[in-house]
Amino acid sequence: MSAPRIFGVIGDPISHSASPRMHHAACRYLGLSYCYLPFRVATADLPEMMSLIRQFNFLGVNVTIPHKESVIKYMDELDATAQKIGAVNTIVNKSGKLIGFNTDGDGLLMALQEEAQLNLSGLGVVIIGAGGAAKGIAYALLQAGVGSLTILNRNVARATALAAPLQKQFPSISILAEALDSSAGFDALHQADLVIQATSVGMAPNILESPLKNYEWVKPSQICYDIIYKPAQTRFMGECTAQGARAIGGAGMLAGQGIEAFYLFTGQTVPYPVMRDALNE
Ligand code: NAP
Repeated sequence: MSAPRIFGVIGDPISHSASPRMHHAACRYLGLSYCYLPFRVATADLPEMMSLIRQFNFLGVNVTIPHKESVIKYMDELDATAQKIGAVNTIVNKSGKLIGFNTDGDGLLMALQEEAQLNLSGLGVVIIGAGGAAKGIAYALLQAGVGSLTILNRNVARATALAAPLQKQFPSISILAEALDSSAGFDALHQADLVIQATSVGMAPNILESPLKNYEWVKPSQICYDIIYKPAQTRFMGECTAQGARAIGGAGMLAGQGIEAFYLFTGQTVPYPVMRDALNE
């Protein structure tokens, strides 16, 4: 009997990762005897990890904080999305050739479709945050045909640096950058159909923190999506729900990016509930 193929996730820290649970649920569902392992990898050890992936013929690895950008220089090839975003969350080993992908944005689109049956075409969207996750999300939303996009960030220069190249790529869509807690930001939030919270504020253990001071912009017709998945109910979600909006947490995006990555690793599709339900175990 041949040894099971290995795949996994690299990051530092890594013990909190829910990815092993999701990918093992997918393997069980499909009857595959693959083994998905968490690897704590310091930045200085990235070159050795990349050579282990080749040496032990891994299917590939997922990549999490803090390596999504630093792994790029070890890739033999980058797919178009990872190249545009400048971040990799999935490395596929194709016979010793390492190919970098980014499935975060498509993971969010899958979650919005599965959990809110949302048609994004023409919608007014606000993203709160301009970090790595916001980048992938902004690109995916624009490709999906949203009507307008405003990026709000504490460091407004970072929001502008994200918006400007996107505006060149998507010239027909209005893309603005504003400061968090500004009056222009408040107006954009009030007018939005969909608001995506993509900062790290409110993530465990700092569960009482909120990225915004004011929630008077919230309307019951809005969908407010927080990409944070720990805790399952964030302060941001609580504030939006209190004003009558529908709030959704980030576990669906986590499942979605995992399903996209699993397909890249194995060529096999797993139904959304298989990975999503594994997060409730
Ligand atoms: P990142 O690159 O470090 O970006 C952090 C963002 O949070 C920046 O916009 C930063 O603003 C903002 N921020 C940090 N502290 C703040 C504060 N006190 N007040 C206001 N803004 C603040 O992180 P990331 O990789 O984008 O990840 C962001 C979050 O998304 C994390 O919680 C991560 O776990 C989650 N995530 C979830 C999924 C999923 O599948 N559900 C996938 C990826 C990431 P400045 O630029 O002003 O510093």
